[in-house]
Amino acid sequence: MTRTLTILGATGSIGRSTADVVLAHRDEFRVEAVVGGKDAKALAAMAKRLDAKFAALADEAGLSDLRAELADSGIESGAGDSALIEAVDRDAEIVLAAISGTAGLRPTHAALKPGRRIALANKESLVCAGQAFMADARRLGVEVMPVDSEHNALDQAFAAGQGKDVEKAVITATGGPFRTWSRERIAAASPAEAAAHPVWSMGSKINIDSATLMNKGLELIEAHHLFDLGADQLDVLVHPEAIVHGLVQWSDGALTAGLALPDMKVPIANALRHRQRLAMDLPRLDLASIGRLSFERADEDRFPCLAAARAALKAGGAMPTVLNAANEIAVAAFMGGKIAFYDIYEIVESVCSSFAARQLQAPATVAEALAIDEEARRAASARLGERVMAPV
Ligand code: NAD
Ligand code: MG
Repeated sequence: MTRTLTILGATGSIGRSTADVVLAHRDEFRVEAVVGGKDAKALAAMAKRLDAKFAALADEAGLSDLRAELADSGIESGAGDSALIEAVDRDAEIVLAAISGTAGLRPTHAALKPGRRIALANKESLVCAGQAFMADARRLGVEVMPVDSEHNALDQAFAAGQGKDVEKAVITATGGPFRTWSRERIAAASPAEAAAHPVWSMGSKINIDSATLMNKGLELIEAHHLFDLGADQLDVLVHPEAIVHGLVQWSDGALTAGLALPDMKVPIANALRHRQRLAMDLPRLDLASIGRLSFERADEDRFPCLAAARAALKAGGAMPTVLNAANEIAVAAFMGGKIAFYDIYEIVESVCSSFAARQLQAPATVAEALAIDEEARRAASARLGERVMAPV
């Protein structure tokens, strides 16, 4: 049976891997719409590659380029907010949400339509507005399938038992490029060093989040919303080989783990096929040749962003929204060479502290979440000016 699919963030790392999965199974999927950010040429190429019906670019300025690239292709196109809305409104049984950052929240939320399935890569949607997003998904009967490798592995592991018997869920982290570096060396790290992920090839924002371990913190918050587990039921384990992605610990002490080679096509295929298996012609995991798998605790002294995210999850309310917004501003400033590596944490921590006394409730709507997000961004931007770039 052919399923219709729309891809948000089609030109990114996850979008490209999704295209590979879809093209390996042309008979299983028909692509309705593809959405991209700024790169009209890349979006047009992707639309043609996938034989999509509609291509929408977020950046209005790119419309004429997009139209020129798609001339005579028969593929319709548009740009700006209205085009994004048209893309998510068009009939599609599955929407794969892979825009990076909080920019993905509005379009992903707009994609919640009765009877649909969302294959969710954009974790920031849940960190910023998890309670509102999941409540709307439930109300509309939309299933949210995790694409994030750890959560997808957990989703598979949960199938081995019943929810009432889950003691805790553990997600693994590679430890990022600085796993073995001293605090002093990390303090002087350049954006290029932070972006050099040892295992995964990803977009630039998530790369930096992996270096600070904020990515793992965001994933704890993501897991909380996806699986309805409390902060004390969620843990992180550093596992540099990136073979075990998630583990569920049951009330009898047994664990069920999800293993796979680190290739996002594996969880993408699983999320697209809705827990059924889509045969994939990928290398098979050869544990004998890997020999050993190692695990260690995360060092929250060298990676304080993980501790900050844990604290935000524990504090609840609007704290994850604030943390996520401050992090995006700080990461962009770090990538732009404006602040040093640990300034990311300093800014996040300072903004979270400044909101703490207000004890804001978890945003009940996406609009409310975005208003808090905006306020936290302004607070973070104000702090950028106060920080002096440490000598590199
Ligand atoms: P990326 O930077 O490679 O791609 C982002 C995509 O979003 C691009 O297509 C870009 O054009 C589009 N985009 C950016 N801003 C936009 C906007 N305002 N409106 C519409 N489109 C916009 O990022 P990525 O690595 O593919 O990550 C995407 C999401 O998936 C992130 O939330 C990330 O945390 C999550 N994720 C990624 C990986 C991975 O391996 N790359 C793994 C797990 C989860
Ligand atoms: Mg992940």
